[in-house]
Amino acid sequence: MSESKENEKIEEQKEPARFTQPWKNSDVVLVAEEKEIHVHSTTLSMVSPVFEAMFNGSFKESKTKKVTLEGKSYDTLMYVMKMIYPFDNIKFEFDSLVCETCETKESNGLIYSTKGSCRRCNAGLSNPRIQHLVRRLQGLYLLANEYMIDVVLDQVKCELTRQSKQIMNMYHAFDLLETAEVTQLEELKTTCLHFSKSYLSSYTLMNQLLTNRKISLETQLRLKGVLLTYILARTSNPGGSYLNEMKQVADDFSTISLEKSHKAVQ
Ligand SMILES: [Zn+2]
Repeated sequence: MSESKENEKIEEQKEPARFTQPWKNSDVVLVAEEKEIHVHSTTLSMVSPVFEAMFNGSFKESKTKKVTLEGKSYDTLMYVMKMIYPFDNIKFEFDSLVCETCETKESNGLIYSTKGSCRRCNAGLSNPRIQHLVRRLQGLYLLANEYMIDVVLDQVKCELTRQSKQIMNMYHAFDLLETAEVTQLEELKTTCLHFSKSYLSSYTLMNQLLTNRKISLETQLRLKGVLLTYILARTSNPGGSYLNEMKQVADDFSTISLEKSHKAVQ
């Protein structure tokens, strides 16, 4: 066994197994994607009226104390649990806008983002990486919203607000815009549209950005308005290179189909 592997093993032993097996008098087992998460009914009842009702209902008399959360992501649920439990007075830190390497390491304390890079080590973040991390926030928000876990909702909103003040590029802006749509955070939507006014520079870019993102028809229309505004503000002579862009946008308006609403552009 290599030295690094041995170190890993020691690390594992030091770290008590939380959630994956019974620990500290845990009395409830949540099941998602056929994997178990061991938790405490009192802790969950404190932060979630939905769990509280669940545990005080017929569940109270049941012997197994096991509840399967159908259709829920195991990873997202684990994240939510880590955000709820206050270990060693360390507030769970978002693994948001960090690189893959840093994500696998444990970290205490807050780390601030440098624009366009990992909050922990400053390594550059790719657009797919950023999209992955922002979509995780979406998942956390939706789950916390369903179970009415305000303590998690507040943290996710806080993180989204922080990111919206440091939008890295148009891809990041559209990731946040999609999140604003999914979570119905109107203020976030407005911020992203406002950012786009300065950087949404071409029809091609807009279509690239819409690809595989869940952006509603209404917002797609607004974006076309944003693009037109950008183009017109820079068109001094109508015969310039922007004329083609204008024609394309106008074309697009005329062929909008309601069936495409809420679907990602393929
Ligand atoms: Zn890093």
